[in-house]
Amino acid sequence: MNYIGHGGKEIVERIMPREQAVEAIKGLTEVTIRGQIAREVIDIAYGFFTPLEGFMTRADVEGVCNEMKLANGVLWPIPIVFDISDEEIKEKNIKEGDKLLLKYQDKPMAILEVEEIFTYDKKEMAKKVYGTDEEKHPGVARTYNYKDKFIGGKVTLVNEPVMNPPFDQFFFTPKQLRQKFAEKGWQRIVAHQTRNVPHTGHEWLMKGAWLSAHGELPVEKTVTGILVNAIIGEKRKGDYIDEAIVLCHDVLRKAGYFREDVHMTSIALWDMRYAGPKEAVFHAILRTNLGLTHHMFGRDHAGVGTYYDPYDAHRIFDRIPEGALNIKPVRVLEWWYCPVCGEVTYSGLCGHKDKAQGFSGTLIRSIIQDGVKPPRLIFRPEVFDLIMECAEKYGFGSPFVTDRYLKERQDIFTLPDLK
Ligand SMILES: [Zn+2]
Repeated sequence: MNYIGHGGKEIVERIMPREQAVEAIKGLTEVTIRGQIAREVIDIAYGFFTPLEGFMTRADVEGVCNEMKLANGVLWPIPIVFDISDEEIKEKNIKEGDKLLLKYQDKPMAILEVEEIFTYDKKEMAKKVYGTDEEKHPGVARTYNYKDKFIGGKVTLVNEPVMNPPFDQFFFTPKQLRQKFAEKGWQRIVAHQTRNVPHTGHEWLMKGAWLSAHGELPVEKTVTGILVNAIIGEKRKGDYIDEAIVLCHDVLRKAGYFREDVHMTSIALWDMRYAGPKEAVFHAILRTNLGLTHHMFGRDHAGVGTYYDPYDAHRIFDRIPEGALNIKPVRVLEWWYCPVCGEVTYSGLCGHKDKAQGFSGTLIRSIIQDGVKPPRLIFRPEVFDLIMECAEKYGFGSPFVTDRYLKERQDIFTLPDLK
């Protein structure tokens, strides 16, 4: 079955059968890649990044930076590049037309066809994508850390990764997800992008987005679903640990806060760029490829510090030309706890603005840190218990990322031997 993804293009799938791969990699120049590139190889090969079939060439990067478009005219906001040092190019005598064997975890992973070796001014790239060239912006810092040159060209996965528990239950390729949606009979699916364990504010965001996406459809049939899509990639100290994020979202359904047939948890591999509005567009593209029809955008989506206005990510979609994006943004404000109404309410709906309390992530974190169970209207007890369990099981005693977690945690996936 063929599925259509972003830009009206068929979902990309670039995976070489094992027997063929064993032969194809013989004698190729080997290049060891880091985590970010390995995750992006997986994204390209399974079609998460459709229509990309590989890392960008100069024309693509130029189009993305200057016009938010690929060279073929398809909307795209963030460069996806393969960087390499001058020394490595020289030492391995890498030339255009070569094929490279990309290695990760000391195993063969993918073949990269060297279509073009090019340079691009990193300061310019940073400024155009992030709107700033300040190094304290983590996306800018990531850009500055790229090595001297870039290689553009197609990527083919020769060794499929095996997801490790608990992520194995939540990883679906775009094609697999679409099959799941067909089984469920979902016609409209709204994405909840997350890097957090859910408090009830998040829960209400999802419930509100579900109502919004479901709209005028008949209520007696389940045709609308919520897909929680957790971004899994490079972690920063103090983030919630990945295991807690996915498992705690999933427990919201298991504990009955969402009905079994309207909610599903999944992951996508991506190292956050914190590009604010541009990253919102990127997330919309990613979820288009997953087969989603709607995407929730809340306050300060993918932002960092004060680089973007909290609602820039809402506004950017007004500027995208009709037909360039095949997913509907669901723009949401915040949910508050209102002690006068005695319930969680949508900001601005009731008239007790001065009495309402926002969900402070910082406050909730400090409560969790102290191990005190918050009121269930703020934080579900099942989620709280599971966070503590995950801390013990995966976090070396902490629900937040520590140095030890960064060093000793098990990788999300393992590459098997290729023989
Ligand atoms: Zn109220």
